[in-house]
Amino acid sequence: MTKKIFRSIMLCAGVVLLASLIVIMGCLYDYFGGVQERQLRDELSFAAAGVDSEGADYLSRLDPRADFRVTWIDADGSVLFDTKADQTSMENHADREEFQEALRSGSGEGVRYSSTLFEKTVYCARRLPDGTVLRVSASRATAGMLAVGMLQPTAIVFFAAMLLSFLLAKRLSRRIVQPLNQLDLEHPLENDAYEELSPLLGRISRQSSQIDGQLRELRQKNDEFNQITDSMKEGLVLLNEKGLVLSINPAARRLFGAKPSCVGDDFLTVERSLGVSRAVQSAFSEGHGEARLERDGREYRLDVSRIESDGAAVGAVVLTFDVTEQTLAERTRREFTANVSHELKTPLQSIMGSAELIENGLVRPEDLPRFAGRIRTEAARLVSLIEDILRLSRLDEGESFPAEEVELLSLAQETVESLADLAREKQVTLRATGESAAVLGSRRLLSEVLYNLCENAVKYNRPGGSAEVRVESTDGRTILTVSDTGIGIPAEHQARVFERFYRVDKSRSRESGGTGLGLSIVKHAVQYMNGKLSLESEPGRGTTVRIEIASGAFSPRLKGFENKTGAAQ
Ligand code: ADP
Repeated sequence: MTKKIFRSIMLCAGVVLLASLIVIMGCLYDYFGGVQERQLRDELSFAAAGVDSEGADYLSRLDPRADFRVTWIDADGSVLFDTKADQTSMENHADREEFQEALRSGSGEGVRYSSTLFEKTVYCARRLPDGTVLRVSASRATAGMLAVGMLQPTAIVFFAAMLLSFLLAKRLSRRIVQPLNQLDLEHPLENDAYEELSPLLGRISRQSSQIDGQLRELRQKNDEFNQITDSMKEGLVLLNEKGLVLSINPAARRLFGAKPSCVGDDFLTVERSLGVSRAVQSAFSEGHGEARLERDGREYRLDVSRIESDGAAVGAVVLTFDVTEQTLAERTRREFTANVSHELKTPLQSIMGSAELIENGLVRPEDLPRFAGRIRTEAARLVSLIEDILRLSRLDEGESFPAEEVELLSLAQETVESLADLAREKQVTLRATGESAAVLGSRRLLSEVLYNLCENAVKYNRPGGSAEVRVESTDGRTILTVSDTGIGIPAEHQARVFERFYRVDKSRSRESGGTGLGLSIVKHAVQYMNGKLSLESEPGRGTTVRIEIASGAFSPRLKGFENKTGAAQ
């Protein structure tokens, strides 16, 4: 702005100066021209009077170096006398304009320029009484010549004036701009600058308070957005139309192993997997894309959706969901269905086989009881399998079991008694020991837990072995331990025996009528009672299962409770 003001002042000063010089020079030129013409006329009058009285003698006395040149011309145009040249060598003047005019009207004037145009000659002629014409002329520089002649002083004046203008313009422009530079735009109304700026400052003040309000609102919205996205379990990434990261929440940063500084980077450099890049591309081209990702043993689903504004893609939003549990549950359900079908098919095939043999009369009468017994055993296995499946599904569905005070030692003794026949058959000593302990829980569940554990302790034992169920109370907790001196469980199977249908030795389990669901039911029942379950086992030496539950009331787990080993098995 300073430069603009400065340039304008300089230009204005230059133009005014130049115009003034031209006007002054023009006026002076005209003035001196008028003076010269008047002098010329006076001189002509003097010369006319002289020639009239003395003739050529008067003219010959005139100084040939004088500024004026006097020429006496005869009526036919031949020169009779000239103060600056020899009249004989001079050409006829009959065609000269001033001469002709003087002959016609008594006086005449004329102006002629020299061949170089730098000089002009002004002529003044008068007809004398004898019919001759007397002419006086004087030379004078043309206006152009005058200007050239005055070039040097003009230039000096011009540069002096320009220098002065320069200094003035500089000072003035600085003084004009200074208050503008010192304007406090943070507080526009507090400025004491030019009055003309008041409307502008008022507008700036209104606009700045508007902007402040909008900024506050934006900041508030941004904070809200950050608070929401920061606490989200799901990952959220916002991309612009070029696929650059605009925002990424902590969950997404953890998943992609990205730093907060990745904002502004291409998302495909943050997450380089092919599936994700395809999902992003398909979101931009088709509106939506999906991908699956595995990280640190967990499975994630990525949903990418295009963000549109006025029909044009302005970005995309990437949402990530941890679907590990869901996938595991789906897989478990699929496996469970396959296992159930398989487990049901085996005894059914055996029943059908035996029944077909009997139906076709292929069984000898003395073998009939054996075949009937097999059918009964397989049918009993089917019944216990279906009962176990029903128990598990009740636990899965979160069925609530009525709570009552249960005395565990007597429940353990009842269980031992109910398994006495089996224990005898297996030649295993089974006993219940410990102290009386009352818990508030479901008798049915506790009975099932005790039965399954004690049955396993007997089933997977060796003849002459022993099994013991022990009840203890410590610090408000009741500890139930079922230990045996049986075959034990190899370390690699220990974590899996609680899975549905998992058996270490399939044939042995089947032989002893096992369904592979016993420990799974135990695990779910203990979870339902908010208890702790642990297993220690050494192959060839025996197994100990330990359950810890609160002695008083227990709060049943909520549906969807997650156990320590992951999804419900
Ligand atoms: P099952 O109906 O086959 O007994 P469980 O779920 O009760 O099914 O047990 C799963 C598997 O764990 C059994 O098949 C068996 O191989 C092993 N197991 C369970 N309890 C014991 C134990 N006390 N000693 C040795 N192995 C055991």
